[in-house]
Amino acid sequence: MNATPPTGNNVATNLGPYLSVVLPCYNESEVIRETHRRVAAVCQDLKQSYEIVVVNDGSKDDTWAQLRQLTQEDPHLVAVNLSRNHGHQLALSAGLHFVRGERILIMDADLQDPPELLPEMLRKMDEGVDVVYAQRRSRPGDALLKRIFCAVFYRLLDRLADARIPLDTGDFRLISRRVCDLMGAMPERHRFIRGMVSWVGYRQEAILYDRDARFAGETKYPLHKLVGLAVDGIISSSRKPLAFALVIGSIAAAFGLLLLLYALYSWLFVGTTPQGWASLLITVVLMGGLQLMVLGVMGEYLGRIHEQTRGRPMFIVEAVVRKGDAGPPPT
Ligand code: UDP
Ligand code: MG
Repeated sequence: MNATPPTGNNVATNLGPYLSVVLPCYNESEVIRETHRRVAAVCQDLKQSYEIVVVNDGSKDDTWAQLRQLTQEDPHLVAVNLSRNHGHQLALSAGLHFVRGERILIMDADLQDPPELLPEMLRKMDEGVDVVYAQRRSRPGDALLKRIFCAVFYRLLDRLADARIPLDTGDFRLISRRVCDLMGAMPERHRFIRGMVSWVGYRQEAILYDRDARFAGETKYPLHKLVGLAVDGIISSSRKPLAFALVIGSIAAAFGLLLLLYALYSWLFVGTTPQGWASLLITVVLMGGLQLMVLGVMGEYLGRIHEQTRGRPMFIVEAVVRKGDAGPPPT
């Protein structure tokens, strides 16, 4: 029998809408209205049931006040407020926790990801694909340094990760309900969502797009956050850095052994021992550096185990607001 298994994305498993859009946002006061307008326009054209879940990740500007206002204007909008800034990946996880749709569109709130790609993504999903990810043909909107960093990171990740993580692909993607449920079933705190989605498997296909520049405002990913995401990406997708530590440790030990043999040989057969503190100092500093590096790599893994065993909730929700839930925002 070769009956095709149900693809999940076509099977009604809950009573939620056809589509959910999830938008994490942090200090996006300048763009949130325009983003909502464009996303809502695309959703309305579909003539299907939908919801737009916007997660306010502890913004310091008036993003939350604007969101509350918007919920009064649009009954499709669900506004979720986190208790403080949790970071993009956790804000997105909170959003995925609240969405009820059969298909879920993940995108950034700054309109770098054009919502107008949605119909094409939905068509691909109709063919039985579980994850339709948008792969960047170009990213003219980002600074040169960031483009170089990202290019190196994605290629490094591609070599290291256990599951194939597509190159030049952010979190902008359409996922099926069963993939979304699996995200919820993964309790890891240091989340690298695109890696987790790749790890799930099923049919995952790309569509190509040109990444726009930010509609307004500045990037909320300064270099240190970007590095943090890159480290999370590598460590949560791979154990190879630990294996690598073992390899360079072994090479260093072998090198030390050779030096010992050389010193013994000179002492026994030549009658001298190698002279000089420079070689000694270099070896000591080099070895010390290598040891600290290896400890650092282990520490990254150990720290994550520690955080995981504390078992704290991944995110804390302060409020969820829909139309009719709240009056006009405080002035
Ligand atoms: N973001 C967030 N919490 C943060 C940082 C960013 O929710 O702590 C959101 C942000 O509002 C945006 C998305 O994550 O919707 C991506 O951030 P941004 O556009 O600044 O990153 P970039 O596109 O520059 O990499
Ligand atoms: Mg952006």
